[in-house]
Amino acid sequence: MSIEVENITKIYGSQKALNNVSFKVNKPEIVGFLGPNGAGKSTMMKILTTYINASDGLAKVNNFDVITNKQKVQQSVGYLPEHNPLYLEQYVREYLAFNAQVYAVDKNRIEEVIQLTGLTPEAHKKIGQLSKGYRQRVGLANALLHNPDVLILDEPTTGLDPNQLVDIRNLIKNIGKEKTVFLSTHIMQEVEAMCDRVIIINNGEIVADKKLKELREGQEQIVIVEFDYRVEDAFLMKLPKVKHVLNTHDFVYEITFSTAEDMRSHVFDFAHDNQLKILQLNQKNASLESLFRDLTNN
Ligand code: ADP
Ligand code: MG
Repeated sequence: MSIEVENITKIYGSQKALNNVSFKVNKPEIVGFLGPNGAGKSTMMKILTTYINASDGLAKVNNFDVITNKQKVQQSVGYLPEHNPLYLEQYVREYLAFNAQVYAVDKNRIEEVIQLTGLTPEAHKKIGQLSKGYRQRVGLANALLHNPDVLILDEPTTGLDPNQLVDIRNLIKNIGKEKTVFLSTHIMQEVEAMCDRVIIINNGEIVADKKLKELREGQEQIVIVEFDYRVEDAFLMKLPKVKHVLNTHDFVYEITFSTAEDMRSHVFDFAHDNQLKILQLNQKNASLESLFRDLTNN
């Protein structure tokens, strides 16, 4: 078992950051740990990487207990912390060499991880001279140094520009072919772009654990329609199989249907029958989006 979490609770002072959390990850896959800010994602990751202790419950990584077998856990897991603390004055190779020594890793491994993370053209520079995307690669290279089975990445793509985002996503996807990757994010699109499975956390509690494949085949869709005039939400609720209606802005509505059937022609007929003009009409498979909204809307 790569990761095993049983009834983990974490209390900071008077605040419960995690409440009886349980989940398992048992094969090489990329699992997205999705939740709004403050949901408890970083707290869970710090427990799994032995940085902090839980108040109650059991957690194992690679079958090693995070309390009684900290060292084995640390050997099994590569960790990219939330704000990726790096020494800006250090050179990339110098930084990796220092950590290789700490982990007692063979020096050849340094060039290996530099290649693996696409750092080669920047590896002679000081960390402070690198772009945010390359700094993330340094963090990933560092997490991969001791060739761990499990990677725990806390918001690995936050703050990257669109090009850097694509590069880092591809890198993580490649790593996920061989290793278990447990990554946190508050952005749904990240999960759709990278993950095989999603675990959603809200207010310190797990509210969903699903395979992306199931969600993609899900029985839900959103139709985005723009009319030339304001329409009452309640009026749109008369459409067949409609689940909810959201007036996002101006005369634009997001209509969620509980069916996989393409509902655009129904919306079109409805508009026609009611003398409404349609200015735009789009459909998207919105299972993950509506699941996230339903489950994290307090
Ligand atoms: P996330 O990573 O999902 O944004 P965190 O795990 O960082 O959430 O935080 C969960 C909750 O615990 C938040 O309400 C946060 O303010 C609180 N928290 C996190 N760390 C501490 C701490 N060291 N002391 C007190 N409260 C904390
Ligand atoms: Mg966090």
